[in-house]
Amino acid sequence: MTRLALTRRNLMKVLGAAGFGAAVASTVRSDRPALAAAAAPATEGLGFAGKVIPHTGAPHVPATIVGGKIVEPQRTIPTMHETDVLVVGGGSAGVMAAIAAKRAGAKVAILERYGYFGGLWTGGMVLVVIGTHVKDGNEKKKVLCGIGDELLERLKKIDGGIIGQAAGSHNPTVDPEATKYVMDEMVREAGVDVFFHCWGADAIMDGKAARGVVFESKAGRQAILAKVIVDASGDGDVFAAAGADYTQWTYAIGTVHRHGNMDRVDKEKAKEAKDSGRKLPPLGGVTPIPSVTWVNTRGPKGDALDIRELSKLEMDHRRKIWENLKTIRETPGYEKVFMLDTAPQLGVRITRVLAGAYTLTYKEMREGKKFPDVIAVGGAQGANHREWPIPYAALLPKEIDNVLAAGRCISVDDKLLDDTRLIAACLLTGHAAGAAAAVAAQAGCRPRDVDIAKVQKVLREQGAYLG
Ligand SMILES: Cc1cc2nc3c(=O)[nH]c(=O)nc-3n(C[C@H](O)[C@H](O)[C@H](O)COP(=O)(O)OP(=O)(O)OC[C@H]3O[C@@H](n4cnc5c(N)ncnc54)[C@H](O)[C@@H]3O)c2cc1C
Repeated sequence: MTRLALTRRNLMKVLGAAGFGAAVASTVRSDRPALAAAAAPATEGLGFAGKVIPHTGAPHVPATIVGGKIVEPQRTIPTMHETDVLVVGGGSAGVMAAIAAKRAGAKVAILERYGYFGGLWTGGMVLVVIGTHVKDGNEKKKVLCGIGDELLERLKKIDGGIIGQAAGSHNPTVDPEATKYVMDEMVREAGVDVFFHCWGADAIMDGKAARGVVFESKAGRQAILAKVIVDASGDGDVFAAAGADYTQWTYAIGTVHRHGNMDRVDKEKAKEAKDSGRKLPPLGGVTPIPSVTWVNTRGPKGDALDIRELSKLEMDHRRKIWENLKTIRETPGYEKVFMLDTAPQLGVRITRVLAGAYTLTYKEMREGKKFPDVIAVGGAQGANHREWPIPYAALLPKEIDNVLAAGRCISVDDKLLDDTRLIAACLLTGHAAGAAAAVAAQAGCRPRDVDIAKVQKVLREQGAYLG
């Protein structure tokens, strides 16, 4: 056994490996001379090649216990960035909002807690886009137009989705990695400032008006100031922090997963098993990869803002998924099926829903009620009913200014939630929120005072269908 001499260098090594380095060292330093920058080792362990990064900024003052209570010191939060429009959340709604606002001429930043775009669509592996079309007499009419449609078309070009077959009859189904990539490219081309790995933690308020967002990252707590903020977090994190009125729901929470080797199922043996009455757990639907299927999971109702519940569900779902896989693999013909992946994001359908300046109802949706402030037209599962306009006021908080909601948390009644949370609708309300945010920021007005005709003009110019 080699004994390690307890020099400062060795102590730092041990503490560093245990994750304590930053607490005791004033700088983090390399043990060996850096390797030549060009050397890209084919294997790990060829020599540490890091460089010392000097600490900058004020020293961190941690929370302390005062009189048995945990107290955080009052502190000044550094402003990391300033922008016209800040989008919080890079899911289907947030990405559309950011691109729309930037194309409309605003300076735009997007903040996302993970390291990729798409939210539930990609990270939640909800691959099937429902609500792209409506019934129009005996025809099916496309209502997902504009930036969302452009994204699907770009996916089609790189074989990143099953898109456009018998338009409106089949829901487009995408590959999550292709979608992340195309979203990256579209956001990059638009020129949006991207901040991944940042968790929007608080709103910065000036009375009833939001002025920006405080976020957490590995670099600590920082702020981004903005004229208008689009809350595309899905959970209404920003409007809730800003003090807007909302309803909080429990809803079914599942974990989507994918099976591989589905093209290697022995069909004859599988038929025999089926004929003998053998029951199989869900095998999943088609994806753009022929050997892969995706399995949707409904799951029990839960409060997706409760971390204990979320943690339990993550583990319960994975256990159940592996039990199902065991049953599948024990079935003659299915021996080669394997678990490709479980979605890195839990399938949270609904949490906070804005109680906005206007609450769109299911009845109004079924009637196709028209609104002068229409900013999008919603589609339907299987294009089984007529088009339904979505009013701008459903994105606006009642009292709080400079915040717009987009995606699954916009202001609708409980019966309509199952339509507005569909991906096509999230793409549409995100697009609309981004365009409106840009127009308001450029006019220097509150989003509630924005010239709606101007917003509609921008949306039409960007290809949106408004009825
Ligand atoms: C299991 C399941 C199955 C579904 N099936 C279908 C289906 O078949 N077809 C269909 O059309 N729809 C389906 N849906 C609904 C649809 O997937 C979602 O409603 C839609 O993708 C939501 O988009 P969004 O952009 O509003 O929110 P999200 O996709 O939730 O995006 C929010 C983004 O914000 C980020 N974020 C959240 N909080 C913060 C924060 N504080 N700071 C920074 N970033 C933050 C998240 O990481 C995420 O990227 C399903 C949903 C689930 C859960």
